[in-house]
Amino acid sequence: METNKRKISILGSTGSIGTQALEVIEKLDDKFEIIALTGGNNVDLLEQQAKKFKPKYICVGENAPRKPEISGVKVLCGNEGLEEICSNTENDIILVAVSGKIGLRPTLKAIENKIAIALANKETLVMAGDIVMQKAKENGVKIVPVDSEHCAIHQCIKDISQVDKLIITASGGPFLRKSVEEMKSATVAEALAHPRWNMGRKITVDSATLMNKGLEVIEAHHLFNMDYNNIDVVVHPQSIVHSAIEYKDGSVIAQLGLPSMHIPIQYAITYPERFEGIKSKSFSFADIARLDFEKPDFGKFPSLKMAYATGKIGGSATVCLNSANEEAVFAFLNGKIRLYDIYSIVETMLEQHSAVKSPNIDEIFAIDKEIRLKTQELIQKITQTSLK
Ligand code: NDP
Ligand code: MG
Repeated sequence: METNKRKISILGSTGSIGTQALEVIEKLDDKFEIIALTGGNNVDLLEQQAKKFKPKYICVGENAPRKPEISGVKVLCGNEGLEEICSNTENDIILVAVSGKIGLRPTLKAIENKIAIALANKETLVMAGDIVMQKAKENGVKIVPVDSEHCAIHQCIKDISQVDKLIITASGGPFLRKSVEEMKSATVAEALAHPRWNMGRKITVDSATLMNKGLEVIEAHHLFNMDYNNIDVVVHPQSIVHSAIEYKDGSVIAQLGLPSMHIPIQYAITYPERFEGIKSKSFSFADIARLDFEKPDFGKFPSLKMAYATGKIGGSATVCLNSANEEAVFAFLNGKIRLYDIYSIVETMLEQHSAVKSPNIDEIFAIDKEIRLKTQELIQKITQTSLK
């Protein structure tokens, strides 16, 4: 008899977070029942997952190379499919682990249907944090963050009204000890060689430019309703302290753990309970021996300054930051531009953008589209100039 199992769907089960979430669920198979799994283009992996985990539905991306057929499993497609899954109130919780803007509408749909959210997809908050958090509040829906820093803060906070400051840690990425000159000539492989975390390609490049940290500052502002002036970033190369908060009285509470995304994923999908689950080894301060902290270099990594500035402007400014950055990162990954061009491209787009104060969802998508087109034009100009 099926009792008390938490019914879960994973959007983006074929990705880095999604596959690790399935590893967590495999260890806790008496605690979860999977309603739906979704992928984008990796139909082979989604098929394997569906055979193993036996969801009721699967969903492939709009442009997937083929539609799988598995007996007993309903196959959906594209954004409509994701929204259908998020409208199914059988779900107790939905893990949003797709990458990019595709996560926004399904997340809102799940919130409207009062389904709890474990949120990995940071673009959802960067693009529409005001709307998403307001809707979650109206519908009494919990959003538990998967992003390790925000998950750490979530674990530290008892009463947000007593908190003075959030302290977000950053590993510093592969270029922490490299010069600006070395960063300028960095190859894609060098940017993808993250010293601590094994993640999807887009977020790995963002970690190299520290744009990821900038997006996380915006994410933290929305999740914890904290003023930007009360959010600090500190570089911590060992990635053991995942973030911290400072209370009004000066007490600082931090969350520590070995650098593994399994832990925050498990926390977010089992919250408020805790289980042994995926835990592989016990934590030892003596083994870690030292923890270092330093100020981030705002000059070498202009992304941080841009993120704070756009966050403070709010409205569509953060949509512009996100869309321009994503297009620039893809162009870098495709060998069209240099790593450091990402900064100048995003900066140019931000300078040209007049922010709309409180855009609705349709306006957000329209602005996203417009910024992407403009960014692509700029990228084309840069590519042509560098070929001359
Ligand atoms: P990946 O690129 O590894 O995975 C992305 C997932 O989304 C895949 O399942 C992919 O499908 C799916 N997907 C992408 N585009 C579409 C689309 N158009 N339609 C349907 N599905 C799509 O990313 P990550 O797992 O690294 O990251 C996922 C999210 O979590 C991101 O927003 C990231 O910022 C955030 N995050 C990730 C962390 C990490 O450690 N990886 C840490 C903190 C946050 P397919 O592969 O089948 O095409
Ligand atoms: Mg993070």
